[in-house]
Amino acid sequence: MTQQRRTALKELQKLDVRILDARQRIRDFDPMFEEVEAPALILEGDLEKSRKRLQEMQLEERRLESSTEEKRERLKRLDERSASVRNLREEAAVSAELEMVKRGLQNDEQEAFTLLDQVGRVGERVAELESAFAEASQLVEPRRDELLAERERAKKDLEILEGEREICAGAIDPAEMRIYDAIRGREGQRAAVSELTEDGACGNCFGVVPLQHQNEIRHGDTLIRCEACGVILAAPEPVEEAADEGAEEDSEGASEDSSSDLDGDEEAPEADDPTEAVEAKEDA
Ligand SMILES: [Zn+2]
Repeated sequence: MTQQRRTALKELQKLDVRILDARQRIRDFDPMFEEVEAPALILEGDLEKSRKRLQEMQLEERRLESSTEEKRERLKRLDERSASVRNLREEAAVSAELEMVKRGLQNDEQEAFTLLDQVGRVGERVAELESAFAEASQLVEPRRDELLAERERAKKDLEILEGEREICAGAIDPAEMRIYDAIRGREGQRAAVSELTEDGACGNCFGVVPLQHQNEIRHGDTLIRCEACGVILAAPEPVEEAADEGAEEDSEGASEDSSSDLDGDEEAPEADDPTEAVEAKEDA
């Protein structure tokens, strides 16, 4: 029955389109995660740089300190020596050296003073960045958790669809299945099944289908592909019959509507009128 209008193949194609969508939806989360994490990541990068700068300055501070210490030692020794000079020449030499060391010490002190000021400012910047980063991280976490949960749901949806696809594919003739897969291609982006239009054209490329093929398609025994674009051609769902009878149209519409009917929806018209349901099934 289902073979005749290739209903299962059409259903499979619908599922495959939804599966592609679901996969894309899951991929779409990647840039969203990046967007959420970006502000905190930028702050983290700035913080790292400032911390490194502070560390380097503190190292420089220590180097200056020991250099100052060394110069003070030297001054002390020169002072001692100046007390025990034996002649003017020696005195001149010692005082020249004293002058030089004193100047060096002054330079060191000036440098240390500037450095101390800079260390203070960079230290303040680090503290600022630390609190901004902590704040940004706190904001990131709930949003990221939200996104993670949403992505989990999208993954579950995909799993359900893949399960439905497996069941659907199991009901399809393996030879038809191979043709279907080959047409859709590895990316699965191409249409593989299309209905014949009312005026006998391919529903995919709208090329006219030869009359004999049209009859074979409507009969449904053999699988016919469009000569122009290669899609598997399926007979259209019977709208004419449904148009004759309003109620039947309703029941058709409901059974086409979604898969939720399979879950035993009591409101489905089939439940009210068993004969009509049988008719509808035979049509399908
Ligand atoms: Zn075509």
